[in-house]
Amino acid sequence: MARPRNCRQVASMPGNDYFKPGGVPLSALEQVILTVDEFEAIRLADLENLYQEQAAEKMKVSRQTFGRIIDSAHQKVAEALVKGKALKIEGGEFKMAAMRKFKCYECQYTWDLPYGTGRPESCPSCKSGKVQRTQEERGYAGRFDRGQSRCFRGPQPRE
Ligand SMILES: [Zn+2]
Repeated sequence: MARPRNCRQVASMPGNDYFKPGGVPLSALEQVILTVDEFEAIRLADLENLYQEQAAEKMKVSRQTFGRIIDSAHQKVAEALVKGKALKIEGGEFKMAAMRKFKCYECQYTWDLPYGTGRPESCPSCKSGKVQRTQEERGYAGRFDRGQSRCFRGPQPRE
């Protein structure tokens, strides 16, 4: 019997969810779907340069599972790049880390950080130190949830 799978933990959602080759109409393109957990694996392993053990820990999966996710992710990105396909980031099996919201009182910029990352020293937009945590919390992946993820959890209503 298969062991129930741990939910894959994702710290941040993709800023863009669609990439396509320039100059080709979308209707003429095949598309590759990269799941949000695969996107997160690329972010951790290839951008943050974490070892697979560390990256697996962050996503709360085994190293073997992480290896499968990153292999699949690399394959899809390579297919899109080499064959000139559109790349769409959507769905998958993941849980969004609970986020804390911060606000800059200098320029009104707001942004989210996952728990456990510490309080930001300055505003990422204007570098002012007048940053405050706001009460609003988000653990919500919004438009990325297309009902495909079994362990996706939307925002918990607060009393
Ligand atoms: Zn600011």
